[in-house]
Amino acid sequence: MSGFFKLLARNRLALGGLIVMVAVVLLSLLTPLLPLANPDVIDTANRFKLPLEGTALLGTDHLGRDLLSRLLWGTRLSLAVGFVAAAVAATLGATIGIVAGFYGGKTDNIIMRGVDMLMAFPYILLALAIVAALGPGLMNALIAVSAVNIPFFARNIRGVTVGIAHKEFVDAARLSGMGDLRIIATEVLPNVIPVIVIAISTTVGWMILETAGLSFLGLGSQPPQADLGSMLGEARSALITNPNTSIIPGAMILIIVMAINLLGDGVRDALDPRLKSGALSRPMPATRVDRKAPIPTASDDALLALRDLHTQFHVKGRVYKAVGGVDLSVRPGECLGIIGESGSGKSVTALSVMGLVASPPGVITGGAVYYQGQDLVGAPYETLRRLRGDSVAYIFQDPQATLHPLYTIGDQLIEAVRVHHPKGKAEARAHAIDLLKSVRIPNAEDRINSYPHELSGGMRQRVGIAMALANDPEVIIADEPTTALDVTVQAQILSLLDDLRRERGLAIIFITHDFGVVAQLCDRVAVMYAGRIVEEGPTEAILNTAAHPYTARLMACVPELGGGRRRLAAIPGLPPGVDQLGIGCAFADRCDKVQPACRAADIPLAPLRPGQKVRCIHPEPARPEAVA
Ligand code: ADP
Ligand code: MG
Repeated sequence: MSGFFKLLARNRLALGGLIVMVAVVLLSLLTPLLPLANPDVIDTANRFKLPLEGTALLGTDHLGRDLLSRLLWGTRLSLAVGFVAAAVAATLGATIGIVAGFYGGKTDNIIMRGVDMLMAFPYILLALAIVAALGPGLMNALIAVSAVNIPFFARNIRGVTVGIAHKEFVDAARLSGMGDLRIIATEVLPNVIPVIVIAISTTVGWMILETAGLSFLGLGSQPPQADLGSMLGEARSALITNPNTSIIPGAMILIIVMAINLLGDGVRDALDPRLKSGALSRPMPATRVDRKAPIPTASDDALLALRDLHTQFHVKGRVYKAVGGVDLSVRPGECLGIIGESGSGKSVTALSVMGLVASPPGVITGGAVYYQGQDLVGAPYETLRRLRGDSVAYIFQDPQATLHPLYTIGDQLIEAVRVHHPKGKAEARAHAIDLLKSVRIPNAEDRINSYPHELSGGMRQRVGIAMALANDPEVIIADEPTTALDVTVQAQILSLLDDLRRERGLAIIFITHDFGVVAQLCDRVAVMYAGRIVEEGPTEAILNTAAHPYTARLMACVPELGGGRRRLAAIPGLPPGVDQLGIGCAFADRCDKVQPACRAADIPLAPLRPGQKVRCIHPEPARPEAVA
């Protein structure tokens, strides 16, 4: 519940609406206690007084009645009628909707056709007809307004209930012997209530307006009783000569309805679980950059070089240091592996390269990414857009999520090509077929017309690779591209990437948590832990003479075929949360060689053996038999 209010308060407009509504409701609750003039006492000697003229604060109306008093009493009445009408419509509508949706079949059909008939009338006409039949009066206006809104609630709630009534947990409840009433009360209702609340919050304002409309026409509250609509109606004849008599109730209606609608929108957003994770705030086109420290310079001739890169997530006052100073580089034709447990910051590092980390909450707080000597972190969005997919392309883990389900893979490949290169349709199509062939999709001419769901997982991943290759990039960043695939398909895709690297001189950054994949594909490996590189070096050296205890323990977790009976040692404990990293080695709590010095100060990534660097003050000794 407190989460709900926090979310609501984050939405400034909704908060404003809430404050105004609380003020208006308090005012109307306190109205009987305020020292107000009698709202119905006629004093024709003092007609049409302007505000502050005479004793009445807001002036008087055409019969000399105190406008302030009438306004407050009228607001009280209008609010009461609006809220009661909403409650009645919601209760009856939701009951009808739940019954229809839960029982389905004939019940549903009969009820919903009745509702449809009600909905077929223009509802204001329906309301007028109901009042005409029942006779004018506020009570009858209330009945009319709730009646015309019942179908709206019934339809909405029925739709939601149908979805819930066929869920497994409802079947389970029925199998466990619960009766219908109990199922509805304990399984269905809790899931429907947010929808009811949302529907109420978005319709209360509407119902207040409808009641005011009926009163305006003289069908609602009867003289001398004031509500906002009847005040407007009575002031109509003096609209030109004494506009204040119309403006005052009109402004009150405007304020109330605006406040309720803003609040209603806020309530809807705050109750929608899908929007809780911040989906309401649309991410910026490139990650936000906020670099305070001096920007490191490009040091060597690498094609792509990350220099002391820091990427953080700022969420609700906490800072998650997902990437805490990463240095990496690749040369043309080289394959660099990044390995580490899940959550170690591999994906965030990869996404930071092209500014693809969602902001908010992501922020690049330091470092640089040099592509051919140009710093991408500070680069304008246009530059990034030009390079994305054209010079640096990504292959993601889940091709199902990256391909659009409603377009053929051909359309998507052609679009990827034409975004960067103005080619004719036919030419782009031929290119797309070539691409599909190059990733060894059989029968590419036909396959190009397939939709993603018509392909197997391995095929879809090949399409993902084809798309990454579409513009002949210089660098491919592959983020666990084979994790979702079986080993045979994985082997094919790895050899495909390897060929491309040799044929086209492609630089590859390959993210994985699989040492087998690294051994097969990569020239160099960087091991990541808690957002930093803890060890880096040639694949051979890392696999044979791992120096960081973490790397060594990680490799001890890998089963070896034909390696005899060896105990697989899981690493005890969990990686530290990146929002509470201390100084010193992040692995210290799980390391069996830990010394006080490990926790005393920051440990640099220092050269150990040729090409091999390690962030540890007690590196593992080289195993003599492995070196030999
Ligand atoms: P992996 O190595 O498995 O690819 P990630 O790079 O995805 O790991 O995540 C690195 C760290 O960043 C994780 O600890 C994760 O909790 C954190 N993180 C990722 N996205 C967010 C986010 N939107 N808000 C807060 N923390 C995040
Ligand atoms: Mg990842």
